[in-house]
Amino acid sequence: MTLDMILEEIKKANTIAVLAHESPDGDAIGSVLAMSIALENMGKNPDRLISEFPRKFKFLPGAEKVKASSDIEKYDLAIALDCSDLRRLDGKEYFENAKKTIVIDHHGTNTMFGDINFVNPVAPACCEILVGIFTYFELDIHQDLGTCILAGIITDTGGFKYQGVTPETFEFTAELLRKGVKVSEIYEQALETRTRSNFELLKRILSRMEILEDGKVTFTYITSQDEEEVNAEAGDHEGLVEVGRGVEGVEVSIFIRQIDKELKYKVSMRSTNDVNVSDICYLFGGGGHPRAAGCLIQGTIEQVKEKILKEVHNALEHRK
Ligand code: 5GP
Ligand code: MN
Repeated sequence: MTLDMILEEIKKANTIAVLAHESPDGDAIGSVLAMSIALENMGKNPDRLISEFPRKFKFLPGAEKVKASSDIEKYDLAIALDCSDLRRLDGKEYFENAKKTIVIDHHGTNTMFGDINFVNPVAPACCEILVGIFTYFELDIHQDLGTCILAGIITDTGGFKYQGVTPETFEFTAELLRKGVKVSEIYEQALETRTRSNFELLKRILSRMEILEDGKVTFTYITSQDEEEVNAEAGDHEGLVEVGRGVEGVEVSIFIRQIDKELKYKVSMRSTNDVNVSDICYLFGGGGHPRAAGCLIQGTIEQVKEKILKEVHNALEHRK
């Protein structure tokens, strides 16, 4: 059984790197921190490797132990979390050099790039998969571990509101609440609190937001210059794509963000019901989930907008 194999590899390893996808969100960070605490509880001394740590998640237990890079070149074991493919993995060199590799993820587009792969595309968050794994390992999910896991679940479910939330999500949350985990504080920090830079970016994306395709699509953008002007740091753009989806009648929200002042944009998409944005992003070499996905497209704002809108238009025409 896969989980026994994972446990076996953990037991054997002396050095362990814990990694997640680049530009990490709350689920990626929650997963790295939770897995690392679990490994510590198993007597290991893992390295939490995240090259750019978003400031809004610094409140999470173990965040102070995160390192941007490591001196160890060849880990006994590398664990990739919440990451669908090697290309998107932050710290991929540690993964590629490791003697053994494990992938734990919930993306339907996962390429199974580890020696051992534990992928459940119906799980609403990678952190929810970890609950099952830790329970199988008979670990006590206590305060710190619970806090990290919940931060991931709350982020990826938009605060328990997206499709994919399971009865187990609530049962697990209730159990943590009983154990004294401060659910409302985590919710507040992970979802309701904006950095000042994020707020300034929000003002810009709102003023630029176009409503297209008979009110079914929103489009907006930020440039590298915007980010510079508002002193944005890693992760400060997080959540901006959600704004468009909340508009009545909108089925697809598109948000693009310039990368490194180049003619290159990171596309983030969200959908409400019928449109599978993962399929659309897959056409451009990206992926994700049916209702939340991303990809990278070269070009000017207008060119990128045109490319993506064409596919969104097709998807709206051809949906069931
Ligand atoms: P976000 O829009 O929040 O950056 O990403 C939404 C979802 O799509 C996340 O689950 C994220 O992991 C995934 N995603 C974003 N960009 C890419 C990409 O370029 N490739 C793949 N495979 N997945 C992506
Ligand atoms: Mn996730």
